[in-house]
Amino acid sequence: MSPSSPDAALLACQNYDRALVEERAAEAFRLLGGPSSVVSPGESVFVKVNLVVPMSPDRAVTTHPEVVRAVVGQLQSVTDRVVIGESPGGPYNRGVLKRSYERTGMTRVAEETGAALNFDVTETQVALPGAEKMKRLVLCRPVVEADRVVSISKLKTHILMGLTGAIKNNYGCVPGMQKFTYHSRYHDEAEFADLLVDVALAVGADFHVVDAVDGMEGNGSVWGTPRHMGMLAAGRDPFALDCLLGNVLGVRNDLNPPLAAAIRRGLFHGEVGRLEVAGDDPARLTVRGLLMPTKRSAINWLPSPFMRRYSAAMHLRPYVNASRCTGCGKCEEICPAHAISVTGGAAAIEASRCIRCYCCHELCEYGGIDLARPALAFARRSLSPRRS
Ligand code: SF4
Ligand code: SF4
Repeated sequence: MSPSSPDAALLACQNYDRALVEERAAEAFRLLGGPSSVVSPGESVFVKVNLVVPMSPDRAVTTHPEVVRAVVGQLQSVTDRVVIGESPGGPYNRGVLKRSYERTGMTRVAEETGAALNFDVTETQVALPGAEKMKRLVLCRPVVEADRVVSISKLKTHILMGLTGAIKNNYGCVPGMQKFTYHSRYHDEAEFADLLVDVALAVGADFHVVDAVDGMEGNGSVWGTPRHMGMLAAGRDPFALDCLLGNVLGVRNDLNPPLAAAIRRGLFHGEVGRLEVAGDDPARLTVRGLLMPTKRSAINWLPSPFMRRYSAAMHLRPYVNASRCTGCGKCEEICPAHAISVTGGAAAIEASRCIRCYCCHELCEYGGIDLARPALAFARRSLSPRRS
């Protein structure tokens, strides 16, 4: 990378037309030094996508296959050792991966580009001396053993973390159920945000691309509403990228807890005005009136001491929607607080054990978990989602 390389590249991209996405991705790489500044000939690259649940690309939940195809093409211009992978939410095994790759379009990308799909579900521990939460962290072995890691995230609102983009995408490098073990240990919002920063540091991805052509607003990252954003972004620093994209979406740094944690820890200066951004003018890509998650918009207007004291009562409460629950048992398996049991073909939540992590809401593929308004909803006439 040249010493004068910009902090980020931001490019308009109005749809997933193959030729357009390929041209935009190539331009993003070019502006940041070209693919040979990311990977060298013969090196292996793990392309970490977001496949949180096995949904089709038009749901705007997972990284779009056209973006993956375009980035893989850039990398393959330098090396033929490109592997696409992810540890989706929930159990992590060959069958889960096969279904996930098929439903999200990754199988086709692999067939058409010649890239490999990762089916190695082994894990390894890495030491992280600079971490605040975890001095040792379990990660997917193929991520750790790859010469390079390239992250391709999806820009979405996130009911617990405000936004999910370049920083949070790294959490899918924590294998399978280990994610929920960590989540149960660090379920407080600020603690979980610090953990996400630790994971991002541990993964240390060499290059980040953010698919923000069609993103998500509202109660994401799975059951929000697709929102057209019309851009692709890339860069080497996940904190700078999330800060830039938050600014384009009108989301303050403090409404993105992992970004706020990185700033507090001195990992990033937090000033969008100091970023050198190549490509299109960010002001022309501004997304107006993004719908933030209900939980965040419901509590953001409160003074901090009040918010801290009544935090639990301010948070949305998950409940089972009996008309959609199939009794599949996934939520029982992944609930970090062991608050869910499935009996008689339906899930039930023990409210007193629930830590409001919303993993069940996010990961139920059938929409079987809904969210009830906070107990203190009377404090405001309406707690419906608000626009940024
Ligand atoms: S709520 Fe969803 S994940 Fe839980 S048992 Fe019902 S269908 Fe399965
Ligand atoms: S019931 Fe849902 S929101 Fe509550 S702790 Fe379990 S997974 Fe998290």
